[in-house]
Amino acid sequence: MVKWRYHHVYSCEGNAMERLYYENPYLKSFMCTVVSCETGKKGYEVVLNQTAFYPEGGGQPADTGTLGDVRVLDVHEKDGRIIHYTDGPLTVGSVVEGLIDWHRRFDHMQQHTGEHILSGLIHSHFGYNNVGFHLGDEEVTIDFDGVLTPEEVQEMETEANSKIYENLPVRVFYPDEDELKSLTYRSKKELTGAVRIVEVPGADVCACCGTHVEQTGEIGCIKVTSFIHYKGGVRMTMVCGYRALEDYRRKQQEAVKISNLLSAKIFEIGAAVEKLKEENGAKAFKIAGLYRELFAAWAKEYPESSQRLLVWKNDLAPNQLREFCTILCQEKKGRIVLVCSEKDGTFQYALGSAEDDMRALSKDLNGRLEGRGGGSPRLAQGTFRAPKEAVEAAFWEE
Ligand SMILES: [Zn+2]
Repeated sequence: MVKWRYHHVYSCEGNAMERLYYENPYLKSFMCTVVSCETGKKGYEVVLNQTAFYPEGGGQPADTGTLGDVRVLDVHEKDGRIIHYTDGPLTVGSVVEGLIDWHRRFDHMQQHTGEHILSGLIHSHFGYNNVGFHLGDEEVTIDFDGVLTPEEVQEMETEANSKIYENLPVRVFYPDEDELKSLTYRSKKELTGAVRIVEVPGADVCACCGTHVEQTGEIGCIKVTSFIHYKGGVRMTMVCGYRALEDYRRKQQEAVKISNLLSAKIFEIGAAVEKLKEENGAKAFKIAGLYRELFAAWAKEYPESSQRLLVWKNDLAPNQLREFCTILCQEKKGRIVLVCSEKDGTFQYALGSAEDDMRALSKDLNGRLEGRGGGSPRLAQGTFRAPKEAVEAAFWEE
């Protein structure tokens, strides 16, 4: 028997008569009477005699749509009343047509029922609880209070999908007090009033206020897209239905792009990228060796000296500046050596000496040349934001 699992909200308070989304979660349009319309912080706050707009709750986002000719931007429940936040006023007492943004709502139903199935299976197989659920615009995030291996996640994903292919009927019911008592579930004391139970046979039994698909086949597909260790358990992201299709599409497009760029078969792009990275690493190693030879050749152009030396070389990376400066110091081309390289109007610099401490000089130059940086006694590195002439003047003046 599938054990009870807790989910977000335990009882769904309020007058069930006005909640058309419970009577029929597939209701896309309905007629209603405007009970009140007030100006609030977020625009207009409209209360109706009945509504098919689902208010945000239990991890499921609110519906959007239209009421007459105004947009419904958000829906919340406050003190048992459902407030529709609209971008325009409605006349109290008037009868208007409500239209739900159906694609959005059906997407929420696909994600929500899919999430129940996966959470229910993980709970029954491993005893882990869903301790956090977020239905976002792009993916569903679920936190479990126990750790799963990648193989276990894949097994659960496969089993969850088999529940979709079985096209099971999703049952929503309100058990009476006795029925409720006979069931095993956690934090039982928190359950009061009419508890709304959503059951996916063989997969999940859960107290929930959300809207669900009628048959599991409507979910189409459940795909786990990532999972990481999180707070002693795991945080999983998943997509269902159209989102899974869209996810597949986008990944397919990226994979095809990489496949074409690398002239590799689509299931061999990983190996092709590995090979490319190896080749890149070998090239970088070779280039570093060539630069070392170049720096040695450049260094020969300068005579040995106990004076200061200032060298301008463009397009050198910070580590190359450091290397070139160190060679100049080692070969005694100057007592203090400053190598500068221009990039986007600022100068990267390396300041070195084989004998003197460079930290004070670097700090002083930074102060005079809008510079930043620091380093070890023999080598300081950083940037100057002053013009070339100012850098020259400051260095020779010191
Ligand atoms: Zn739920």
